[in-house]
Amino acid sequence: MLGLSAEAYHACMTTSSENRHAALRNLPSVDRVLAEPALASMLTEVKRDIVVDAVREELSIARDAVIGGGYVPTPEAIAQTVVMAGTSTWGTWPTPVVNATGVILHTNLGRAPMSAAATQAAAAAGEGYSDLELDLGKGTRGSRHTAVSALIHQLTGADAAITVNNNAGAMLLGLAAIAAGKEVIVSRGEASEIGGGFRIPDVLLQSGAKLVEVGTVNRTYAHDYENAITENTGALLIVHRSNFKVIGFTAEPDLKDIVEVGNRHGIPVLHDLGGGALLDTAQFGLTHEWMPQESLEGGAGLVFFSGDKLLGGPQAGIVAGNHELVGKLEKHPLARALRADKLTLAALHATLLHYVRNQAADQVPVWRMIAVPLPELEARAGAMAKMIGLDAKVAPASSAIGGGTLPADEIPTYVVSIDASRIEGGADALAHRLRIGQPAIMPRIEAEQVLLDPRTISPSRDAEVAKAARAALS
Ligand SMILES: *Cc1c(COP(=O)(O)O)cnc(C)c1O
Repeated sequence: MLGLSAEAYHACMTTSSENRHAALRNLPSVDRVLAEPALASMLTEVKRDIVVDAVREELSIARDAVIGGGYVPTPEAIAQTVVMAGTSTWGTWPTPVVNATGVILHTNLGRAPMSAAATQAAAAAGEGYSDLELDLGKGTRGSRHTAVSALIHQLTGADAAITVNNNAGAMLLGLAAIAAGKEVIVSRGEASEIGGGFRIPDVLLQSGAKLVEVGTVNRTYAHDYENAITENTGALLIVHRSNFKVIGFTAEPDLKDIVEVGNRHGIPVLHDLGGGALLDTAQFGLTHEWMPQESLEGGAGLVFFSGDKLLGGPQAGIVAGNHELVGKLEKHPLARALRADKLTLAALHATLLHYVRNQAADQVPVWRMIAVPLPELEARAGAMAKMIGLDAKVAPASSAIGGGTLPADEIPTYVVSIDASRIEGGADALAHRLRIGQPAIMPRIEAEQVLLDPRTISPSRDAEVAKAARAALS
């Protein structure tokens, strides 16, 4: 992209093809651009070949523009474009973003932010060697899963557990290990799309299991599962409706009724929970979300949940449950392909320790954001609005859990509501300015107002965000 100001160009509009050829000869050489002072520091920081390629690329774009009748850019302008593109490509990544959307698990912003302890644990595991797969006492090989599984056991009562890359991977592994070549019975109302094209029927297909849908989209009974059981049934799968709701004339069996059916036929019940709520969401005024411990107590053979949804840790997929079933997963070749890396395991372990120590509600950022008292949010929004000025006011609004969790729950909040009608382009233009600013701020737009929700902003950043918003308005 040539984000150049008109002044940066030689004003030599070409009209005829002859003129255009003359203009092409005026395009600076690669060496001429490389000699520009603007590129001096980049040439010391980035391999020369890479800068040369970037300059060539910009010159080729400029050439096409000239052939199309455009201006011939100056060497300086080309150099500046290379610097601009280079700064975003060769700088540190990802760019930290202040999440002012009020959506706690924002998929595009990296889902759950982790606690300081979890972040430090990942950094420490990355920086040096560790006993990841070593029993220090015996000096023999250990398992990378032992430490995390011990905490999962204490927190959920599961006999055994295994951690992979994400919950999608957990399901793939679980279904492949338990039910490849067999039938898996799923309620028609749960054979859904989880997000980003991740569909339960597709995962089943990839695992080698055969989907058998039972019931109807709104009503499924325990006897529907029972009637579909054949000698080739490998599992009964329950998929938590984490990102949609079925309301009206509905029926779904209790977990215990499905477990009873499974037990009668010696078939395990697998429960995909998604969320991974180790604390009770109802305690925070939200709809009660299935907890892994409840599902296991209810008789599920295996539960699947994410590490970076309500658990509030790193991206991971955890499978917990029956010893014999988890053993099958551990032995499956996909376990190696999907296993979590040391950074993830270290961060997950540190996150789980918050729960073991009963400190999750104030140490795990996701729960802290869920639990912020409303008056505190109102006061913070008020202070920010005051700093921003006359265009800003405090307004009641709703935050969301996000990440496909508790879709129907709206958490009352107070936001800074900014009227951007004074600036050209209105709310969209202001939001754009905030996103590309320093710090990058991601707001929400509603009814032509730009909203900043303090719930997902760290209180220590409030003043900085308000200052940035005021600057963006002027
Ligand atoms: C989110 C979710 C998944 C996928 O989990 P990832 O960790 O994103 O792979 C699977 N099943 C359910 C029910 C979910 O909510």
